[in-house]
Amino acid sequence: MKVSPARVWRARGSRYRLEGSRCRDCGFTFYPPKPACPKCGSRNVERVQLPPRGRVVTWAVQYTVPEGFRSRAPIVAAIIELENGVRVLGTIVDVDPSEIRDGMTVEAQLRRVAEDGDEGLIVYGLKFVPAPRG
Ligand SMILES: [Zn+2]
Repeated sequence: MKVSPARVWRARGSRYRLEGSRCRDCGFTFYPPKPACPKCGSRNVERVQLPPRGRVVTWAVQYTVPEGFRSRAPIVAAIIELENGVRVLGTIVDVDPSEIRDGMTVEAQLRRVAEDGDEGLIVYGLKFVPAPRG
C-alpha cells in the first residue's frame, strides 16, 4: 500500500506545526515567523499556528533549477492562501504541473522542510501537495 503524504502528515500530528507570527498591534499574520511585524514594524508579535490547508492563488513553473536539484525539476513555485487568509510562498510537489489550477486545494507537507533548508539552495521552505478530496 502506498502511503500518501497526507496520511504521513496526519500521523505526525502536532509535532510538525505550520507556525507563523501574528502582530499584537496591527493584527497582521505572516509566514515565516519573524521577531518584527513586516507591516508596522512592531516587535510585539506572537507565534501562532497556521492552518495547513489552503488554495493556489498563483504559480510559476521553473524548468531551470540549480545544479544538484535537477532530479526535482520542474519546480512549481506558488503563492498559497491558507484557510485563515494568510498568503505564503511555497512549492507544490508530487503533482504534474499541467494539473495545477487556480483555487486548487493543497495541504502543507512539512516533513521535508529541514532537508532543503540544510542544503541552503532552495529557500521556498514550504512544500504543498494536492489535498485529498472530502
Ligand atoms: Zn504589525
